[in-house]
Amino acid sequence: EYGEDEGDESDLAARPPVVTVMGHVDHGKTKLLDALRHTNVQAKEAGGITQSIGAYQIETEVGGDERKITFIDTPGHEAFTAMRARGAKSTDIAVLVVAADDGVMPQTIEALNHAKAADVPVVVAVNKIDKPGADPTKVRGQLMEFGLTPEEYGGDTMFVDVSAVTHQGLDSLLEAIILTADAALDLRANPEMAAQGVAIEAHLDQGRGPVATVLIQRGTLHKGDSIVAGSAHGRVRAMIDDHGDTVDEAPPSMPVQVLGLTSVPGAGDNFLVVEDDRIARQIAAKREARMRAAQQAAGSRRKTLEELFEQMEKGETSELTLILKGDGAGSVEALEDALAKIDVSDEVSLRVIDRGVGAITETNVSLAAASTPHAVIIGFNVRPTAQAARLADQENVDIRYYSVIYDAIDEIEAALKGMLKPIFEEKTLGRAEIREIFRSSKFGNIAGCMVLDGVIRRNAKVRLLRDGVVVTETTVASLRREKDDVTEVREGFECGMTLASYSDIQTGDVIETYEMVEKPRS
Ligand code: GDP
Repeated sequence: EYGEDEGDESDLAARPPVVTVMGHVDHGKTKLLDALRHTNVQAKEAGGITQSIGAYQIETEVGGDERKITFIDTPGHEAFTAMRARGAKSTDIAVLVVAADDGVMPQTIEALNHAKAADVPVVVAVNKIDKPGADPTKVRGQLMEFGLTPEEYGGDTMFVDVSAVTHQGLDSLLEAIILTADAALDLRANPEMAAQGVAIEAHLDQGRGPVATVLIQRGTLHKGDSIVAGSAHGRVRAMIDDHGDTVDEAPPSMPVQVLGLTSVPGAGDNFLVVEDDRIARQIAAKREARMRAAQQAAGSRRKTLEELFEQMEKGETSELTLILKGDGAGSVEALEDALAKIDVSDEVSLRVIDRGVGAITETNVSLAAASTPHAVIIGFNVRPTAQAARLADQENVDIRYYSVIYDAIDEIEAALKGMLKPIFEEKTLGRAEIREIFRSSKFGNIAGCMVLDGVIRRNAKVRLLRDGVVVTETTVASLRREKDDVTEVREGFECGMTLASYSDIQTGDVIETYEMVEKPRS
């Protein structure tokens, strides 16, 4: 899936899977990552862990072969999704950690939804099985309701019972990761080409300057290579692996700390090796400019459901993805049920990638932004947090508010059927009565009016009423107070007015002015 410039089939070599650990808080993600790393380090070397660089690689034996697995050392789906929102696919497999004594919890499902949205296969680690209250069977049952059927029940998701404390089951977990990768993914890369990958962590070190941990996705990174990472650039002065050892090259799927950049890239920035320093500098400058332009554009432009539908019409996309947030489990469920009943054509589809109760959060927005095209967030009697609203602006995520389920359904149905146009409604501005008529050779008939209520504006739409019957519809062509041209006249004042393309006025006629305003969709 990484580009076409990888060379021939024969140039591709297997690469290790890259894994992110996700799950509910306190279910043991950190402990599990530590345990996995520790077992491996102990087996390989005496000194133990020297430092963490944001990711590590371990070796395990599966079916007689030594196989490597790369773990991203930041547990949780936030980092994973933030990277995805920036366009980087950093993970091949998600390990979903569920504590066997606690069972499936809200963040378990949230994490699962993030993995599904990223189309990443899931291996379930049923953790804490050393605890007295552990019920691994119950966890399997609970997750089946969310579409993860254990392999032992005929499904295609591997569930492994583990304990991050006693280390029970860790080897089986590693094996399950390899087996899942082999069965579901074709993880190969060309190690001979110039390296490309993603920055997963970066900071400014007092003594060493900018330090970035990069994950090599294809090619091999060498000491001395000129690189660009986001809008940072430089030459690889030194590389340090996850044991703290200096290395001279890093092949696909290997995480490595890079020294020698001139500034600090962002997590999720793509990096690549280029011919020389000059080109690196040029590309970095271009990226910087593009980033600035994108930031500005994001401020002035909001992606809307209408635009999404336009894309659908043009065949650029055929899927409308939604995230549902509501004030109660009942309303969210009702909304989703009703959505499921929308009858749409086969060419377009509707997919709910996440749902939940409560305010719209940053996590919701980042998940929406990580989908292509962006998912639309439906808020049913809920609003976003301040941070979420800001992020939605930045990322061009469309949030729609509703307080009536049928309004939401109608609008989504309309969007899917191509009928969604902004709805305008009439707002009355004011009314004036014609008290006198002045005849002017230059302007035709001028209506001498008294504004009865509201305001009369130049260019406003007009409905001319005679005894309550609409005589004509036109606009206010000119408006005067005393001798001056004015843009508006308020209630209780006299004015002179001419109407565009109509001069057959009579005293006693009522001029009603109005404007069309876009109806708020809430
Ligand atoms: P995280 O929030 O998912 O990263 O969870 P942590 O790794 O911080 O673990 C939360 C708590 O559960 C800590 O007190 C751990 O020591 C404990 N814990 C994690 N895994 C296990 C396990 O397998 N067995 C037991 N008994 N406790 C565990």
